[in-house]
Amino acid sequence: MKSSLFPAKKQSSRFSGLVFLLAAVILACGSLQSQELKVRAQFAAYPATPPAPRALANIDPTYLKLRAVAPGQAVTVTGLRLRKDAGIFTFKSGTFYLLEPINGICTGAVFLGDASFSLTPPTELEQRYLSFLAKDHEFVEQFSEAVFRFTDGTDAEILKAAGPAAASASGNPAGVFKEVQSQLRTRLKENLDVRLLQDLLSSQPGGKFVAFIKGKRYGGKLIYDIDPQGVVSYMADPPPRETAGPRVQEFFSLAPEEVALTEWDWKDAGIWTCFHLAHEYADGTVNSNEHNGPVTVARQKLEAAFAKNGKLEGVAETTVVAAHNGVRVVPFDLFPTLRVAWVTGQNGEQLSFIQEGAEEDANFAVILPKELKKGESYTITTSYAGKNAVIDEGDKNYYAVARDNWYPSVGLAGHSDFAMTFHIPKGLKMVATGKLLKNIDEGKENITEWESHAAQPVAGFNFGEFKSMESPDLSKHYMVETDVNEMGPGGMGTRYSFVPMMKKANAEGQVALDLFTDYFGEQPYKRLALTQQDASNFGQSWPGLVFLPLPYFLDATYRHQFNPRNEHQYFDTVGPHEIAHQWWGHLVGFNSYRDQWISEGFAEMSASLFLQGVYSEHGLADFHEFWADRRKRLTDTNGEGKRAIDVGPVTLGYRLATARTGVNIPRDLIYPKGAYILHMVRCMMQNTASKDVDERFKAMMHDFTQTYGNGTATTEDFKAIAEKHMTPEMDLTHNHRLDWFFNEYVYGTEYPSYHFEHSFSAASDGTLVLNMKLTQSHVSDGFVMVIPVYVELEKGQVARLGRLPIRGNTTVEQHIKLPGLGGQKPRRAMIAYLDDVLGSVENK
Ligand SMILES: [Zn+2]
Repeated sequence: MKSSLFPAKKQSSRFSGLVFLLAAVILACGSLQSQELKVRAQFAAYPATPPAPRALANIDPTYLKLRAVAPGQAVTVTGLRLRKDAGIFTFKSGTFYLLEPINGICTGAVFLGDASFSLTPPTELEQRYLSFLAKDHEFVEQFSEAVFRFTDGTDAEILKAAGPAAASASGNPAGVFKEVQSQLRTRLKENLDVRLLQDLLSSQPGGKFVAFIKGKRYGGKLIYDIDPQGVVSYMADPPPRETAGPRVQEFFSLAPEEVALTEWDWKDAGIWTCFHLAHEYADGTVNSNEHNGPVTVARQKLEAAFAKNGKLEGVAETTVVAAHNGVRVVPFDLFPTLRVAWVTGQNGEQLSFIQEGAEEDANFAVILPKELKKGESYTITTSYAGKNAVIDEGDKNYYAVARDNWYPSVGLAGHSDFAMTFHIPKGLKMVATGKLLKNIDEGKENITEWESHAAQPVAGFNFGEFKSMESPDLSKHYMVETDVNEMGPGGMGTRYSFVPMMKKANAEGQVALDLFTDYFGEQPYKRLALTQQDASNFGQSWPGLVFLPLPYFLDATYRHQFNPRNEHQYFDTVGPHEIAHQWWGHLVGFNSYRDQWISEGFAEMSASLFLQGVYSEHGLADFHEFWADRRKRLTDTNGEGKRAIDVGPVTLGYRLATARTGVNIPRDLIYPKGAYILHMVRCMMQNTASKDVDERFKAMMHDFTQTYGNGTATTEDFKAIAEKHMTPEMDLTHNHRLDWFFNEYVYGTEYPSYHFEHSFSAASDGTLVLNMKLTQSHVSDGFVMVIPVYVELEKGQVARLGRLPIRGNTTVEQHIKLPGLGGQKPRRAMIAYLDDVLGSVENK
């Protein structure tokens, strides 16, 4: 199981890394003696004599049969209709070649003949998105070849429809089958046999069904997948250099959704539709917080040693809990070049496991001695080692490539306890997630022990020849430390100095933690380490551990060389954004890509709070610039001719990256629009009569983190919290619901325009009168919003006068008396002064 919910890691991060990598290679050649550190793993089940490496790899007899299976019995059909959830296959005429049964079970078939596949997703949003990508109002594909794999008894449906055998079947079923197997192994790198093995070795009925369709209209690489455990996104490696075609997103998990249609041909690549099982819509049980994977992880005890060249040697003691009955095979996500030597069970017995070649379908899975019942726990010990999970970049700089799968993981959707021991060459410093329990030098190595403060979705580390600086945060909730490598990779430190900026980084960390604690509530990770990573264009946040791009640690002059146009105020906001992920993504996690906008959008909005409250030496100039940039991102047209705002709602998450929409769309939609959504809620809740204008907003956010802390929250969970705390003014539809707001901005794609004109006049009694004319346009008829109106006073202060509700494409006029402005004459009136309305705003 591969899963990476925080994308843009490997390829995109190497922007500045090429030069450094080259340097690292040269340096590595110079140091032939690489120091190997050994884990000593005093784990309960660590065998006195370790088993022979890989003796029990890929040897399970059922697995071997799955790897070698081939098409056999021919079944001729005419007019067979197979309904598979929302998809319908119609086999007009042709022949199925059923795969040879394994342990009495048929796991697939090859079809050659004349057939079609039609798909109608269960929701309007999915229907719309599929039509948009397929460029047709309905999705129908004709095909003459397809491979099916299943454990749901599809063979019985085929056999029931068997007609008289055809005189002579033409075609090459074995060749068609081999081609799909080879695509899975070498292009998609997904070990489907592991998934089938789970069902074959279970006493419970299987429900897997997947079709590899060689379509005529949409290219030969269509996959229709149904999996009660949640579907995976099939994505091939980027096309070879000589092949034209965009890079679509890296792999990410589509679970808990169970049905997906994926196109993986480069020119059309994307996840075209994805949704839950039909019965969940019928029963009203659709929930993106559904946990349908086979296991959760209660505890990870990890020990890892890193050699000078970055090679990792690890032992993981992983306690899994079965999520349903009949769990016999446990699939994990483990970085492919980390090769498993052996696995033992909780009584010290050796366990059989699966892990194919690092360059192929290397999914790691463990076969338990007996199946688990729902709720039963089991502890697995895995010994593994390999290069490339951590890269030695030279000058004692290391880059962790495997961020969330350097240990056997089941993804980021659950929270687990972590205990970790790290060995690194003496003289280097380790910084990891959790509480530091022990830090000693012994012989040639430094050993540290860490334990999570609270359950975490993920654990990680960063190390190097770090210089460190520590200080308590302003409210003394947490410790803040900054760790940077004095030299930097490739001798960078001889050109730039990172160390003087550590003070600033620490201060920024202190202020951000203090500010966000006030707004969002206290968070459980008592320490925050701000560390450097060799990348110039991305940061990442793990619980208590933030990775920041190297130029972040440079002063303004040097930063400028990395981002000459100060695009997106990148280095001013990356710190606060990543620190805010301590709340958004970690304290409150997400279980589905549908809810990832909360994590990114809220982190981005948090950065705006920082700009407003901290970088305020230019008044609100930086703050306004921030929101202007977010509007630009939403409305710029990309190479595919698309504006992010139009492609789809934030709840489509990383699925918005397809060959037809452009790969920039998720980044340019869920971050800025997600930020706008929360910012608008904040501003609607503001109360100028209160000592703290954000009092209500803070109460809502504290409630949100208290309710969903150390767990995951869905979009609908957030909506419920917002409805609990909404003000009467926000109740535009008089039903105490925010359906109007969520339908327009969260589930919708509209981008309204506003035109505001005003004048001042005097009433007959001499009172000042503000005459306003507000027009809303480019919206659907039912589109409602409440528009804040501000006045700027003589001395430049801005005050909010009130809020104007407006519906549809219309103009409203109002004349209001302004008796009490403290004798001041207003300079002007305006709407959306705090960038608190998403849309194009014109103040006249
Ligand atoms: Zn982020």
